[in-house]
Amino acid sequence: MPTYSGRISSKLPHVGTTIFTVMSRLAAEHSAINLSQGFPDFDCAQELRDLVTKYFNAGLNQYPLMAGVPRLREAIAEKVETLYGTRYDSEHEVTVVPGATYGIFTAVATLIRPGDEVILFEPAYDSYGPAVEVNGGVPVYVQLKYPDYSIDWAGVQKAITARTRMMIINTPNNPTASVFSGEDMRMLEAMLRNTGIVVVSDEVYEHIVFDGHQHQSVARFPGLAERSFVVSSFGKTYHVTGWKTGYVLAPKELMAEFRKVHQFNSFVANGPIQHALAEYMQNKDAYRSLAAFYQRKRDFFLECLKASRFKPLPSRGTFFQNLAYDAISDERDMDMALRLTKERGVASIPVSVFYREPPAHRVLRFCFAKSDETLARGAEILSRI
Ligand code: PMP
Ligand code: GLN
Repeated sequence: MPTYSGRISSKLPHVGTTIFTVMSRLAAEHSAINLSQGFPDFDCAQELRDLVTKYFNAGLNQYPLMAGVPRLREAIAEKVETLYGTRYDSEHEVTVVPGATYGIFTAVATLIRPGDEVILFEPAYDSYGPAVEVNGGVPVYVQLKYPDYSIDWAGVQKAITARTRMMIINTPNNPTASVFSGEDMRMLEAMLRNTGIVVVSDEVYEHIVFDGHQHQSVARFPGLAERSFVVSSFGKTYHVTGWKTGYVLAPKELMAEFRKVHQFNSFVANGPIQHALAEYMQNKDAYRSLAAFYQRKRDFFLECLKASRFKPLPSRGTFFQNLAYDAISDERDMDMALRLTKERGVASIPVSVFYREPPAHRVLRFCFAKSDETLARGAEILSRI
């Protein structure tokens, strides 16, 4: 084994292995029911697998265009216009990327220079802070208000300085399962007017919003769309998280800069998968039925937990249900999550890992993108605690 003997000054000294890898590995080691990392334990549609096979066999195995397969970009632009009323030009304003994480990272790398401040909401999805820091930026955190994780707009206003270059928002939100309201978006639109702040809007759960609410894409708000990168992913929408295919939308001036970075990073996303997705997107039912599909799973999981001492927090979108456990233990959530996995056989994610300093409240995040049988077994164990 070679050994590096030079000095390494880490660009991310505080970062270890992601909690998702840690908990999934621990779940496997202890044969625990894995409700930690967010991915479905059921397969994607047969039709979609057949389409990928078709395009793998159709001689489309070389580099696609840098910005993405044209008919997929067109299908994305049409969907966004239908749903959110804004037309993005598929030639200049839509780019297909190898996953949303990559899209967010590339948007940050495109604009952030050393010392630039980026506003993030805490708890923050785990890739945001490191993406900012590795590019020399300074994350500035605004706390979401527990227990409904609403936004402290006065706090956001206070966090804005002359050095603020960007804000990363995420609705529906991971890990809190909260959603921005139309009023939130109008507040944001008004607050950013006459500033040079660019928004990166992580909308990977755009089709998973519950109880009749609407997804508030920045694409619905002209004052936001004109300053935003909208990032989404096919992973959550079609149950294909392992395909790592997503897309980014932005006004062409921003997108031109984004593509300069993208072309020297991955350059393209997987070609045959793009062709398959373009054809599959003609089936609009697949995303239209998604919210009802996951709402039923949320309700099923909650019903199975009725007798439990865990206390559900509101889950308004995403495929996560947070549970508080004040009535059970005063352990730290990390300890609780480790113990539940090792001793009881149910893995979850401790929400404190999405904060720099553990907050006073203690909450575990459970993923309900699982078969009913898995959810019932997991809930049954939780109900005995
Ligand atoms: N953003 C959020 C909020 C997520 O939850 C996830 C993945 N679960 C991603 C981005 C990453 O999406 P992708 O796998 O397409 O990179
Ligand atoms: N976003 C997924 C989750 O929240 C995990 C993705 C990953 O493992 N990086 O659980």
